[in-house]
Amino acid sequence: MNWNDVIRYANNGSPTPDKRVEKTEEEWKTILSDEEFRVTRKKGTERAFAGEYCEAHEAGLYGCRCCGTQLFDSNLKFESGSGWPSFTEPVKDNVINYVKDTGHGMTRVEVLCNVCDCHLGHVFPDGPPPSGLRFCINSVSIKLVS
Ligand code: FE
Repeated sequence: MNWNDVIRYANNGSPTPDKRVEKTEEEWKTILSDEEFRVTRKKGTERAFAGEYCEAHEAGLYGCRCCGTQLFDSNLKFESGSGWPSFTEPVKDNVINYVKDTGHGMTRVEVLCNVCDCHLGHVFPDGPPPSGLRFCINSVSIKLVS
């Protein structure tokens, strides 16, 4: 996939996920820590260089912190220098929901877990080949399963 796919998904809707997980805010609060809830359910951002996976090199798959859906592979993680874990592609096209975000005076593309709507971060068109994409993800929104 490439930036044209991202824009198409953001404009016309993302691919249908294999399943959906839906919970109320109160239910998420009982499962998540305060910081996990703030970032994943309230579209927060962890401090740069503060997250546990910013400099992680362990092999494995990263699942959604909220619902466990496999989202990213450590093989597609790269050093972006941004202070957040960065990936060039998700494990499958339909695990990510792409949404236009016009907040903070910018137009960006927000990325969410397509199964449970967990806020993950944003995707930018300045990543390495072959996708040219940089998925800039909060550590607290994902969980490494080795
Ligand atoms: Fe999820």
